[in-house]
Amino acid sequence: MPKSFFIDTTRCTACRGCQLACKEWFELPANKTKQLGTHQNPPDLNPYNYKLVRFSEHLIGDKVEWYFFPDQCRHCLNPPCQGAADTVLEGAVIQDDATGAVIFTEKSAQISKEDFEYVRESCPYDIPRRDEKTGRMTKCVMCIDRVQAGMLPACVKVCPTGTMNFGEREQMLAMAEKRLALVRKTHPNAMLADQHDVNVIYLLADAPERYHTHSVAQVAPMGRKQLFASLRKPRASAQGNTERS
Ligand code: SF4
Ligand code: SF4
Ligand code: SF4
Repeated sequence: MPKSFFIDTTRCTACRGCQLACKEWFELPANKTKQLGTHQNPPDLNPYNYKLVRFSEHLIGDKVEWYFFPDQCRHCLNPPCQGAADTVLEGAVIQDDATGAVIFTEKSAQISKEDFEYVRESCPYDIPRRDEKTGRMTKCVMCIDRVQAGMLPACVKVCPTGTMNFGEREQMLAMAEKRLALVRKTHPNAMLADQHDVNVIYLLADAPERYHTHSVAQVAPMGRKQLFASLRKPRASAQGNTERS
């Protein structure tokens, strides 16, 4: 039975404890960044930030409303990134049977920059990043070391508001549905983002685009089915890599 996250954005205060806890657990270095006129920092996911609390502000009527979105890999049930990476180099992306965690392995450092872009484009949520120093692909790993030791992911452990939840998939789905029913009483457009396709289930109180361009799956211009069909065809450069490996 895979594990899932339930991320209830209606409870998020954007304290960024989750973002920091992730950096601390993985001992990721600081980023050189700059002020872009928003509280969001750094401006985007990067090789040293597997988790990013996104801030969006919107003028609704005469009121400014904040939308907070703690972004991370969704640990897709059938991960397109794995399908794409397999056509380039098998074993660069794996999925753990017990937890459903999708992991970029050390082998991913052998994937060229051009082929990395192909893997990145396959992700409906724009998650994969590449460490230019090591060549390795990076993203959230579901804190697999902690979870295998019976601990909560670091970002869940520190969240003070109940936004971040983690456990058995059935349990998280039930929690999400229950909370959705409650939130819909005051926010009729509330929804669960792609809950049947991913192991990181977000509750959004409003239209997804108000939170983040990739808060729900974006596979433009092709649909999800076409994407999976295309991944079954080996790429020309993939055959070359297979011969080398
Ligand atoms: Fe939001 Fe919790 Fe992260 Fe704070 S720790 S930003 S409340 S998800
Ligand atoms: Fe892969 Fe993107 Fe899905 Fe994460 S969200 S498992 S990187 S396709
Ligand atoms: Fe970071 Fe672990 Fe949370 Fe993923 S599960 S965002 S690796 S702290």
